[in-house]
Amino acid sequence: MEKPDRRGIVTSESLSPVAFINGKWRQPGSHALCRLRNPSHWKKEIGRVPLASPADVKAAAAAAKSAGPKWANAPEKTRKKLLLDWASRLLDFKAPFAAAMALEIGKPVSLAEEEVMFAVRLLLEAVRLPENAETGSDADFPRRGDFAVRRGPLGVVGLITPWNNPLAIPVGKIAPALLFGNSVVWKPAALAPRTSILVLETLRKAACPEGVVNLTFGEKDTAHHLVLNPDVRAVSFTGSWKSGLEVARLCSSRPIPVQLELGGNNASLIMPDGDIEEAARTLAVSAFSFSGQRCTAPRRFIVHRAVRRIFEEALVAAVRSLRIGLPSDRETQVGPLISRRKQKEMEALVQKSVGAGAKILCGGSIPARWKEGCWFEPTVLASVDPELPVVQEESFGPVAVLETARDIHRAIRLLNAVPQGLVASLFSKDPSCQRLFLEKAECGVLKLNQTTLGVRPEAPFGGWKASGLGPFEHGCSDREFYTRIQTLYG
Ligand code: NAD
Repeated sequence: MEKPDRRGIVTSESLSPVAFINGKWRQPGSHALCRLRNPSHWKKEIGRVPLASPADVKAAAAAAKSAGPKWANAPEKTRKKLLLDWASRLLDFKAPFAAAMALEIGKPVSLAEEEVMFAVRLLLEAVRLPENAETGSDADFPRRGDFAVRRGPLGVVGLITPWNNPLAIPVGKIAPALLFGNSVVWKPAALAPRTSILVLETLRKAACPEGVVNLTFGEKDTAHHLVLNPDVRAVSFTGSWKSGLEVARLCSSRPIPVQLELGGNNASLIMPDGDIEEAARTLAVSAFSFSGQRCTAPRRFIVHRAVRRIFEEALVAAVRSLRIGLPSDRETQVGPLISRRKQKEMEALVQKSVGAGAKILCGGSIPARWKEGCWFEPTVLASVDPELPVVQEESFGPVAVLETARDIHRAIRLLNAVPQGLVASLFSKDPSCQRLFLEKAECGVLKLNQTTLGVRPEAPFGGWKASGLGPFEHGCSDREFYTRIQTLYG
């Protein structure tokens, strides 16, 4: 890896390969390039990523198809051994992974290390999957009269992943795909090529057979070629609502199964009997660390009016004490945003919200000290209008909104009055409040007396409404997506 300069900024350039096919890196020819800049120092170019052509995608899918049957027929213990070996390789490469994420996507290095550990835990949980799965293993489908049911792999699966968790999200898809005997073509986000290359290199060191996992770099067009490739039998996508919708349309035109994990616009409800100080502290960290660029980050604080003032004061104090800094600094909680464009978007969102009557409680600007990069101050807006874009849309940045509710009924109505439904949390110990919340909250994941951020690697994870489609990821639901059922007579 490149060495950071005195300020911890890594600046050297490099051209990444265009694909990994049949166990070999393919170097680019006349491919179009995506130029990458350092989020911490926007003038510095840090790499160029070639965009894979239809021919690259075709070769990757063909390699996966041809390696598939042998992998599917390998004993389960062989597949589990690969995942366990991969987990230990990830641990060996913890520091390079963290450095790559800090450079490419501005993820604070301590959070990047947490991501490595989460990826390791995903692998360890995936290895336990068949025993864990509610549906049991094939042997658990006894013959019923003259028929039996079995499950088998789908074949080649296409995986499309976002830039913000460039290690854990791909691992969370590749692991169950391999465990259940599928082969893979993965299209990572173009913005994190070093991390993606390390993912493949650690798999290679774990002796993953050639052709079982292939990669094509690229953006939208490469993703579409992958989804439309006839050898690809299912697609798992994580990313924005807009891109996910296109993927779903293309999949339905074939048709093939699709799993979409999309954006969240998560709310935490704070009731008078909740632990207000604790809620404010934990919500401040989880909303703004990594500058709010996490799908499970809380973005809406819906507060009972009786505790509005005390919560607001505690929240603003906690937000102001967050440590803004370089991603390579271990103490940093709030690093830069992914791009200048995203930074400008946050500025415009704040201005538009203020123009429409929202009030800035803290933040709201580009911090003068960090002008070289794409930082934006952690910002809390108070809004009385639930229709404002800052309430209705996922900012996917360090801008969150505080709304007030007269009671739990109104709080739940506000919670549900957005298109998304990923995670919601309630701070209250009152059993009747908790019951109402658990009955009425329209989200895939519900949490009591904790923030919306963070999930367990063995628990199914996914969104309702505009936050997802198809089976959830992880735990017992992986089997649902990465296998298909077959009924046998006679
Ligand atoms: P994105 O939709 O721009 O990109 C995601 C992936 O899709 C990338 O590989 C990208 O190259 C590809 N892509 C881009 N445009 C496409 C198109 N039109 N058709 C097909 N593929 C396309 O998302 P992003 O900016 O990389 O990630 C941020 C989004 O991802 C946020 O909305 C965030 O909430 C969401 N996200 C969701 C989860 C989850 O598990 N629910 C986790 C992480 C991120």
